[in-house]
Amino acid sequence: MRQSQLFTKTRREAPSDETAKNAELLIRGGFIHKEMAGVYSYLPLGLRVMEKIENIIREEMNIIGGIEMKTSIFQNKEIWEKTNRWDDSIVDNWFKTKLKNGAEVGLSFTNEEAYSNILKQYINSYKDLPVYPYDFKEIFRNEARSKSGIMRGREFYWKALYSFSKDQEEHDIFYEKAKIAYQNIFERVGVGSSTYVTFSSGGTFSKFSHEFQTLTDAGEDTIYVDENKKIAINKEVFSDEIIESLGLNKKELVEKRAVEVGNIFTLGTKFSEPFNLKYKNEKGEEKMVFMGSYGIGLGRLMGTIVELLADDRGIVWPEAVAPFKYHLVEIPSVKPEVKETAEKIYKKLGENDVLYDDRDLRAGEKFADADLLGMPTQIIVSEKNIALGKLEIKNRLTGEVKMISEDEL
Ligand code: ATP
Ligand code: MG
Repeated sequence: MRQSQLFTKTRREAPSDETAKNAELLIRGGFIHKEMAGVYSYLPLGLRVMEKIENIIREEMNIIGGIEMKTSIFQNKEIWEKTNRWDDSIVDNWFKTKLKNGAEVGLSFTNEEAYSNILKQYINSYKDLPVYPYDFKEIFRNEARSKSGIMRGREFYWKALYSFSKDQEEHDIFYEKAKIAYQNIFERVGVGSSTYVTFSSGGTFSKFSHEFQTLTDAGEDTIYVDENKKIAINKEVFSDEIIESLGLNKKELVEKRAVEVGNIFTLGTKFSEPFNLKYKNEKGEEKMVFMGSYGIGLGRLMGTIVELLADDRGIVWPEAVAPFKYHLVEIPSVKPEVKETAEKIYKKLGENDVLYDDRDLRAGEKFADADLLGMPTQIIVSEKNIALGKLEIKNRLTGEVKMISEDEL
């Protein structure tokens, strides 16, 4: 993409009403636009990051048998009354609206009800199980707090997968696969070494659920971490009993701030019962479907990557999620070779991998922009470098500079 055609521009100053580093940097870089507290639009550069994260998650979900679909934002009141979750006194973060005829509808704040209701139409026999549908979707929650930028939105984009299994045994096998898929995802997007499988409260059907918590002071959670074993316990459930049952040593646990980037949860028959979601086994007996849920917040993950890797000059994107791999910076010159060389490199590396700064601006401004926007590799084409027969390649993360020839590139 040519930067001259990108309508967004960088800003030197962060908006005064934004306190979270992720939102400050993403707004300054023109990745997102703040609509109101907790509500952001994704601009072209921000969308590219989201799509890269989305594709990584999609690949990992498909590997473990996920089947993608897209459920509606609009929620039918009657369906939510089955689980007693329609009432505002029970769920306090609903966004609701009304049809012209006065009927109430909700905007999705989670997906268990919608999925149970849809799958009920299709699950009859043991032959229909297991099944692992998922979707990427906008979620709406009237959160009381929204000071964490895109890490806690009132509207946010997530992936939710629900597992429908014949029994706990079949469920447990998938649950372990999902855990590994999640670890792969966090590894691939560049936060793996700071992300801990964290034991958290489990509900009725299992002792624990598992959260994936990434260490950052921008997080709102407190966890106790065993750095060697790479596991943690959420403060919510922290007790001597749990430390012992996990074979951990209290002395080796360190208190840390973290953000929950994803979670996996054994639901059991909590939702299949109210929806009467049953199947017939081989003997013709009716059994309840056994469910699990698996969520990841994509915006929260994107914000976490920014929080974790940014430095005093701006954002640093890992290559797997960067909007572009390369930032090709042409330093304007009266010598036509400069533009010619830059154009040639742009064509060679391809518009999908290169953000080409072809704008008529001073070098200092261009370098500051490239550092703020955070593409992993900067390629600098200038009169001086061309005279040497070289290109300057700068690694955004390490600051390391290499002079290489066009052929080497
Ligand atoms: P939290 O305790 O942080 O509010 P949650 O327990 O409400 O999270 P879930 O309902 O399980 O989260 O949602 C699944 C995932 O969606 C979370 O792991 C998180 O990554 C993401 N998520 C939840 N709430 C938000 C939000 N307000 N903004 C952005 N992402 C969110
Ligand atoms: Mg919440």
